[in-house]
Amino acid sequence: MSASPPGSLGSGQRAKRRNPLVPLKPPSVPPSGRSRAAQGLTAAAALGILALQRCEDCGAVQYPPRDACVQCLSAKLRWRPMRVGGELLSETLIRHGQELFFRHRAPFRAGLVRLDDGPSAIVALHRDCEPAPSRLRVRLVLDKAGQALMIGLPEKDTPDMADDSLIRDTTCAPRARKVLITDAKTKLGRTMVEALLAAGAELVWAGFAAPWKPSPHLDALGALEPVTLVPLDVSDETSVRELAGSIGGKVDILINTAEYHRPGTISSRPGVETARAEMEVNYFGLLRLTQAFSPALKARAADAPVSSTAWVNILSTRALSNDPAHGTFSASKAAAFSLTQALRADLQASGIRVINVFPGPIEDEWNALVPPPKLSPAALAKAVVDALERGLEDVYPGEIAKDLIARFLENPKALERELSG
Ligand SMILES: [Zn+2]
Repeated sequence: MSASPPGSLGSGQRAKRRNPLVPLKPPSVPPSGRSRAAQGLTAAAALGILALQRCEDCGAVQYPPRDACVQCLSAKLRWRPMRVGGELLSETLIRHGQELFFRHRAPFRAGLVRLDDGPSAIVALHRDCEPAPSRLRVRLVLDKAGQALMIGLPEKDTPDMADDSLIRDTTCAPRARKVLITDAKTKLGRTMVEALLAAGAELVWAGFAAPWKPSPHLDALGALEPVTLVPLDVSDETSVRELAGSIGGKVDILINTAEYHRPGTISSRPGVETARAEMEVNYFGLLRLTQAFSPALKARAADAPVSSTAWVNILSTRALSNDPAHGTFSASKAAAFSLTQALRADLQASGIRVINVFPGPIEDEWNALVPPPKLSPAALAKAVVDALERGLEDVYPGEIAKDLIARFLENPKALERELSG
């Protein structure tokens, strides 16, 4: 087992406090210009898949991404999942970088890898990779600029593997981090708190609206040592600002679980009161959170050794295509989804990842009339922790969500008609 590098966290160790006299490094991200074809890599990395283009005519696998096949010039290139194994042929130690981001991280290893599916690639190497020639695993991840980066990992997991800067820069593991869960009053919120604690979060702030309403679940949560209950009503600007004022500068990961949901078709309910309430929480609530919390998150994005790192939104597959039995709820989630894209652009320069989670119907009282299978809160919480630990950006947890996104990508118009049937 190799010694932990300075600034890293050993297992079970708490993060050391930063010396306030040492100036913060300015946040820096790697250069982010990529061709349109290369954004296919970004899309695969966002889902945690190693995908490359394969020629439909001759079968040649392409890397780097291109518009026409390197063998036969066919334009029929399709993104396909690839095997994750490869052979490290040679490597070098990079000691200098033109870009600020790389200068801060030098020296680091880079290697030439022949992928099991054909092409060769230059990858960033984990410190535990065996010297060339050797076998390794290749992974496509998102770097701090939100662009795809191919990295080489040792063939088998090693102790404290997550402490390598390559992993820390491309993931958002909750271990030793402070997390705000905006609504812990629901079953999902409570389950999320427990999942984050199990993943090693140092502290969880559990938000709850309407503190005058007694809740035995909340009392049980508040009794847990690393949990602090905080009043938070995302539909109230003062409440959001007050909480941001007291803890905003300490939050490393924000998970927005606040949601208002009433099922029904748009013709079944007169007036706009319910729709307005859904927008107040699902859309304006998110907007209030971004305005109050993102400046502090951005300011601390380069704080070492534990920086602010991620913003998680629990959206819905209904944000992608309206489910008319949940008409106004779907519309509010679509509005929220659009806002998260603006949030992602806003946080990108600081290297903070915006993770969007699109569950299908969740097992809760508002989906009581939806036939099974439905996603359990525990499965959803597990998917969020997994996304943080792997540094994903788009998450479709469970079979229903995976089926729906596949149908959406295949033919959005067909999906609209199927959902309205
Ligand atoms: Zn070809």
